[in-house]
Amino acid sequence: MRFSEAFIYTLKEAPSDAVLPSHIYLIRGGFVQSVGAGLYNFLPLGKRVLDKVRTVIKEELDNAGCQEVDLAFVTPSELWKESGRYEKYGKELLRFKDRKDAEYVLGPTHEEMMVNLARAYLKSYKQLPVNLYQIKTKFRDEIRPRFGLMRGREFLMKDGYSFHKDEESMIKDGFEKMEKTYSKIFNRLGLDFRIVEADSGAIGGSGSKEFMVLAESGEDTIVVCEECEYGANIEAAVRANPKAPHEANEEYEKPEMVFGKFLTPDVKTIEELSEFFLIDPYYLLKVVAKKALYDGGEEKIVLFGIRGSDELQEVKACNAVDANELADVSDEELENAGLVPGFMGPKDLPKEITFIADKLLEGEESVIAGANEKDYHFVGLNLKELNLTYKDLAEVKEGDACAKCGGKLKYTKGIEVGHIFQLGTRYSAPMKAEFLDENGKSKPYVMGTYGIGVSRLLAAIIEQHHDEKGPIWTKESAPFDLEIIVSNIKKEQELQTGKKLYEELSKNFDVLLDDRKERFGFKMNDYELLGIPYAIIVGKKIQDGIVEIVDRKTLQKQEVKADEAVEKIKGLLA
Ligand code: ATP
Ligand code: MG
Repeated sequence: MRFSEAFIYTLKEAPSDAVLPSHIYLIRGGFVQSVGAGLYNFLPLGKRVLDKVRTVIKEELDNAGCQEVDLAFVTPSELWKESGRYEKYGKELLRFKDRKDAEYVLGPTHEEMMVNLARAYLKSYKQLPVNLYQIKTKFRDEIRPRFGLMRGREFLMKDGYSFHKDEESMIKDGFEKMEKTYSKIFNRLGLDFRIVEADSGAIGGSGSKEFMVLAESGEDTIVVCEECEYGANIEAAVRANPKAPHEANEEYEKPEMVFGKFLTPDVKTIEELSEFFLIDPYYLLKVVAKKALYDGGEEKIVLFGIRGSDELQEVKACNAVDANELADVSDEELENAGLVPGFMGPKDLPKEITFIADKLLEGEESVIAGANEKDYHFVGLNLKELNLTYKDLAEVKEGDACAKCGGKLKYTKGIEVGHIFQLGTRYSAPMKAEFLDENGKSKPYVMGTYGIGVSRLLAAIIEQHHDEKGPIWTKESAPFDLEIIVSNIKKEQELQTGKKLYEELSKNFDVLLDDRKERFGFKMNDYELLGIPYAIIVGKKIQDGIVEIVDRKTLQKQEVKADEAVEKIKGLLA
């Protein structure tokens, strides 16, 4: 493509809300244009990158035996009602009516649509397994669209769904195959990523994995082990049970507590309690109150009890009570429910209040906890006498021990670019998507679901590959393989050499020829902002038959003979 004719326009400034390099460079480089909160137009350059990324994804998926389909974006609400998600899915789901008052949603993900498709055709175990995918616009009315393509409202996703006759096939032919295929995809795109265990909702176990591109700007905190391969999203991370201070530290004596109700006037927080009793927070029971939201607007107050030395992990807490969402609850609401903020605990609670305790508290015979009475705490409370429900609620901290190897756990940041999930029959069962098995018995498909954030990948690639001048596209994501920069188009020899190289190299590569009537410095700035892996500069030295090859990564220039440039570039791009 000739720059002089191309719809490529770089900008000097990025909008003031752009803080991440990827956001800034995608706009300044003329890859995308912002048209509203979380809405972007893809310009020719951005579209080229998107198509490159898409090609890599498609090639690998097709290789793995998946088949591409393209489902309607506007989807009938009935399907969402069938699966039960119409209610559950919060405000991210854009619901609307057409002129006949029929209800629709804009697909934020396509489980219902795919199950509906499959059930029309897949009637026998002989037709299974099947893996269908699409690369398609999604809409989610995100509460906080931000960081450019990282979190849009309208965005491009690859979503895939596999249908199997049993769990074994789903794991082997679906989940594990996709894990390998996704690794190939992200490797080809030149990304440094980590596969981590993710939250799998109420299902639990390791049925859900995320592909995290490691980057400081990532919105996800991931827990990794310094010694072994263990990695997990903080929402799903587990640890070896931390030792009590009296076990970990010889100088610390186990506090002896005799059961009793103590006057603790105005002593409410863990910090205050710890000072008041001169005791490590480990021996205190911290209570976090939340409102759990359920289908049909039902809500209830739940108290979560964890050790004072821990923090509540909200996703774990939400799963523990099988809620759609947890919301904050005000002191007033607590008081109306008969609770006393600052003095809440598991004993002597109003009957209708649910109390869930962290598993680290199981078997604890002596803690300090609120007495559900203003200004009082119980000391030496034996939880074993209370018949509590225990769930994993605590957030893993840096420095905790790995449950697999005992190594030290630490935090790092990641950008979620892919997610694979063992769905089971969560959608096929309620939607009665069934097949006949070997014995002629009707069964719902066992399913897997697999997503990739295609447009988010553009941002993720830049977050990992950029410098202070602009993006540095990886080989398989670059909008062009090569740019040829004619330093001064008024010099006939420069222009002719540039054109000749362009014609020759275009046979094998995507080449951009900068033949604009601009100063060399201006063109070079644009080259840096476009982030194309290599450039050939045809300048003054052409009089001696010399051109320069620039490597975008290092910005170093190398002189080569003009008639050797083609071979040299072929070698570099091979
Ligand atoms: P997140 O936690 O980042 O909101 P998610 O868990 O909602 O992601 P999935 O429903 O698993 O995401 O969607 C599959 C993939 O789509 C994600 O792995 C991510 O890469 C991408 N994705 C999700 N939401 C967005 C968005 N708002 N903008 C761009 N890409 C997105
Ligand atoms: Mg989301």
